[in-house]
Amino acid sequence: METVTLNNGMEMPLLGFGTYQLDENATAAAVLAALKTGYRLIDTAQYYGNEQTVGQAIRQSGIGRDQLFITTKTPLSGYAEAKAGVDDSLMACGVDYLDLMLIHWPVPNFMETYEALEDTVKEGKVRALGLSNFNAAQVQRVLDEARVKPVLDQVETHLLWQQAKLHAYLTEHDLVHQAWSPLGQGTPAILNSPALLALGAKYHKTPAQVALRFLIEEGVAVIPKAQHLAHLKENLAVFDFQLTEEERAQLRQADQRRSVEGWPQSMQVEADY
Ligand code: NAD
Repeated sequence: METVTLNNGMEMPLLGFGTYQLDENATAAAVLAALKTGYRLIDTAQYYGNEQTVGQAIRQSGIGRDQLFITTKTPLSGYAEAKAGVDDSLMACGVDYLDLMLIHWPVPNFMETYEALEDTVKEGKVRALGLSNFNAAQVQRVLDEARVKPVLDQVETHLLWQQAKLHAYLTEHDLVHQAWSPLGQGTPAILNSPALLALGAKYHKTPAQVALRFLIEEGVAVIPKAQHLAHLKENLAVFDFQLTEEERAQLRQADQRRSVEGWPQSMQVEADY
């Protein structure tokens, strides 16, 4: 698994396993299968209600804690609430520390939440902090006021919404750009894209693999979700081929600045600058 070095020196897998809205009964099996297949980063969230199940799968896998990278997210506003939330996540996941804690979206008074998270880093409960769904102005506010620099911003990013401007901003400030919904939630507009199909035929890869490979080569970390074992394996097998600069330039043209999640227009405008 290739990794990226975060601005605090930690190594993070470039590709991880997303767990949002996995079928409730299948979550443990899917996460266990992902770990057995070679995934080492698991992306969960307090909001997903599956931290406990993820924790069970991690223990069942028998993989050493130091080999794993666990990301979770807080949606809580306020110092006390956010701080207690970290303890709840630790308890639910059944671990002594979390590798990465994100603020799930720009909650009201997000600097209060961030201060609480900074204190959990000081206490050794969390190794790194990050943001999710923050636009550049919001990230800048955190950079201006933080004691612990965030390591990344996780935002909706895929072929149809490539977030080029945000990517440039994050890169300039030494934050990693991590893509949620890197396959556009499996939308046919991506999985049946003629450009991806053509490149897939050339490299003996599927459109999903080309879509993930494109993001990785653009310097974006990805956390695809998959329920089926075949998809789960397929999504990991993206480190044995390389697109040309011309092919990447062609795929950049596919950007429609379009959310597949259906962010309200106001959010989309705010998040896309
Ligand atoms: P995704 O883009 O990863 O798409 C997943 C879907 O694509 C699957 O359900 C399946 O239908 C299909 N798929 C997966 N692999 C495939 C393959 N190889 N071939 C064909 N189809 C395939 O969508 P996602 O789950 O929304 O996003 C990934 C992860 O990002 C989530 O699970 C979650 O962990 C995270 N996320 C974070 C936020 C946030 O606000 N921070 C929001 C949404 C998702």
